[in-house]
Amino acid sequence: MKITLKQYNGVATWRWNTETEDICGICRLEFDACCPQCLFPGETCPIVEGTCGHIFHKHCIEKWSNSDKNNKSCPMDRLPWTLVKKP
Ligand SMILES: [Zn+2]
Ligand SMILES: [Zn+2]
Ligand SMILES: [Zn+2]
Repeated sequence: MKITLKQYNGVATWRWNTETEDICGICRLEFDACCPQCLFPGETCPIVEGTCGHIFHKHCIEKWSNSDKNNKSCPMDRLPWTLVKKP
């Protein structure tokens, strides 16, 4: 029997990491590392927090927002995505 794995493209269809906040819910890489677009973690690849409490790489949520312009929502819980403003 052959099992074919389907590739998920950024849509929150996985459920096993919802309790973990150490990884980005979009690219599923650790926050210690940078997003797939960047080579090095740090200031060039910041981490942002939404009012719903989810944390993502800035680049990841930007990419998500751009692909979903009419419905700017958190990919994890579909709540309206608003950045938490840090002092
Ligand atoms: Zn990410
Ligand atoms: Zn990045
Ligand atoms: Zn959320």
